[in-house]
Amino acid sequence: MTARTHDLAAITLLGVVFLVRPVQTLTLATAILAILANLIGGITPDIDQPTAPFWRNLPVGKYVGKVFDKLLGGHRFLTHSILGLALFGFASHWLLVFVHPIMHTVNIDLVWRAFMLGMISHLVMDTLTKEGVPWLLPIPIKFGIPPFRGLRITTGKYMETWVVFPLLLIFNIVFYYAHYQQILSILHRHII
Ligand SMILES: [Zn+2]
Repeated sequence: MTARTHDLAAITLLGVVFLVRPVQTLTLATAILAILANLIGGITPDIDQPTAPFWRNLPVGKYVGKVFDKLLGGHRFLTHSILGLALFGFASHWLLVFVHPIMHTVNIDLVWRAFMLGMISHLVMDTLTKEGVPWLLPIPIKFGIPPFRGLRITTGKYMETWVVFPLLLIFNIVFYYAHYQQILSILHRHII
């Protein structure tokens, strides 16, 4: 999947989880950082791809990207597995605990969860593509939905651009429209 589909999928999952399990209170700083962390999480698994937007936007990203590509075992390997989720979950939590003293109005647990939701949505979306996802590494089997490879989506092609992305958009419109009052009251009562 392309980065923009991944970002839309990440923010969609964040929105749904936020509504299903509203938090008691959260600061505006937490909300903003959670959205940012969620979008970053949505494209993080593709840092194993030298051409990923993650690297393309950095000045020396192309070269650093190549090093990461080798380190992480090539595209759709470690970062696209439960083991990778655990490693990145651990590292990102450690990083958040480290920076917490300079931003103590931020609930780092919520920011961390938003980041992880982004990563999880990435793996789920990639599972729909032809390449599949090696969820159970080190068991080197790539899983896909549907199981028959020919029925799965090719990244950046017709199905993704004209079906998956618009469907996600429509889902968001319907979702926010259907829960408008509920979301409004959560925003009023829980964001401080
Ligand atoms: Zn990916």
